[in-house]
Amino acid sequence: MLTKIDHLGIAVSSIEQSLPYYEKVLGLKCEKIETVGSQQVKTAFITIGEVHIELLEPTSPESTIAKFIEKNGGRGGLHHVAYYTDDLEGQLKQAADNGATLLNEKPFDGANNKRVAFLHPKSTGGVLTEFCTDKK
Ligand code: ZN
Repeated sequence: MLTKIDHLGIAVSSIEQSLPYYEKVLGLKCEKIETVGSQQVKTAFITIGEVHIELLEPTSPESTIAKFIEKNGGRGGLHHVAYYTDDLEGQLKQAADNGATLLNEKPFDGANNKRVAFLHPKSTGGVLTEFCTDKK
């Protein structure tokens, strides 16, 4: 079962240049910055209530985030919605059994101590969808 929105992933060209918007204009706080080498991204986590904003900055031109920004006319923007589940494998099976296309058959290590897997946006109404759970 999905129990909450865990975070919204937002692609940015530069975390450093994006943070003043979140910290000064919105008055929120960046809790942590972490690089996820396997995904070629640097992430920043901003907390609001139980939800996080995950800023994603590409660390390589090959990064999917770099390609997303390029496709988006050089601007960042909303990249994915991440739902929290206690049963990641079960949630993936339910999605696949009901016609969703899995981008990842097997969950992998994401940022912020999570195991994550994605559903293809062509099967989710255009929104890249992440399921995540706490690393055991
Ligand atoms: Zn995410």
